[in-house]
Amino acid sequence: MSKTIAVIPGDGIGPEIMNATLRVLDALDCGLSYEFVDAGMVALEKSGDLLPQPTLDAIAKHKVALKGPLTTPVGGGFTSINVTLRRHFDLYANVRPAISFPGTKARFENIDIITVRENTEGAYLSEGQSISEDGETAISMVRNTRKGSSRIVRYAFELAVKKGRKKVTAVHKANIIKTASGLFLNVAREIAKEYPQIEFNEMIVDNACMQLVMKPEQFDVIVTTNLFGDILSDLCAGLVGGLGLAPGDNIGTEAAIFEAVHGSAPDIAGKGIANPCALLLAAADMLDHLGMVDKGDKVRQAIRDVMTNDRDSVTPDIGGKGSTSSFGDAIVKRV
Ligand code: NAD
Repeated sequence: MSKTIAVIPGDGIGPEIMNATLRVLDALDCGLSYEFVDAGMVALEKSGDLLPQPTLDAIAKHKVALKGPLTTPVGGGFTSINVTLRRHFDLYANVRPAISFPGTKARFENIDIITVRENTEGAYLSEGQSISEDGETAISMVRNTRKGSSRIVRYAFELAVKKGRKKVTAVHKANIIKTASGLFLNVAREIAKEYPQIEFNEMIVDNACMQLVMKPEQFDVIVTTNLFGDILSDLCAGLVGGLGLAPGDNIGTEAAIFEAVHGSAPDIAGKGIANPCALLLAAADMLDHLGMVDKGDKVRQAIRDVMTNDRDSVTPDIGGKGSTSSFGDAIVKRV
């Protein structure tokens, strides 16, 4: 097949891990070509705009983008470019798989949990936020809708069916946040009835945190609202050895953006030691999305193989002495 995707190298470690990732994609010979576009600090320096129109146009045209991490400048006036992109393209499903890889010194083995996070509403609204003039009282709003809850819960069940998963757990706080979280939970219960072949259970978010740390093997697919999903998926990344192995897929009906969960890591940028695997695993998910599941699996298997048999090549964050390029080279050899 031949397909063009939009590629945003990103800030900080972005270009380093993107380079390693594209070398692996090229080695796979999967017929992809790239339109490189800018966003974030690089775009701001070049064009005075954090998210230039040609970047939005390229994503709209190709419908699929691979994105490096973007730095959000600290201080007033800048909203997160990542949040803006998710809203602009209505990328309502944020799918964050956490899979155990060998040799990570993680506390658990055999973790395979997919968090499906609602990505456009909940507590991450731009409207409804205010602070009193004296700075003493701040108000933030949470908004969940039936439409938003339905489509994310349905997405989670459909994903479970497609991937042969057995169970979906809805995580909520409906005992306290009775309206917004209650609506999400009620919708989840209704939709679960349409999928009798998938086990459904529900869990209050604080209990879910404890259960994930104590007995993660009981989880399969988690579906939850925006803020809880953001936090729980990082917890899951911690269970499998850290952010260097955590991909994040942002899926909508018109476009999809694949990225690492981690940020631009300014503390290690330019040192050549960033782990490329989170972005590579996102690229593997992108291949699945494009109907090339065999190629996606090849990438995952190659990473597993390097982490088992070529420890000298892997990066320091997962206990190796290698670099971004030695890790990338070792994976290229195996795909
Ligand atoms: P971060 O994820 O960039 O870094 C947290 C820690 O993890 C750092 O110690 C870093 O060195 C380490 N780390 C991250 N990725 C790694 C990798 N691939 N290999 C090895 N170590 C890695 O989080 P931060 O420092 O809080 O954020 C830095 C910037 O990134 C901020 O501007 C933030 O807004 C942005 N950010 C962007 C995204 C995104 O683009 N999706 C996500 C999160 C943060």
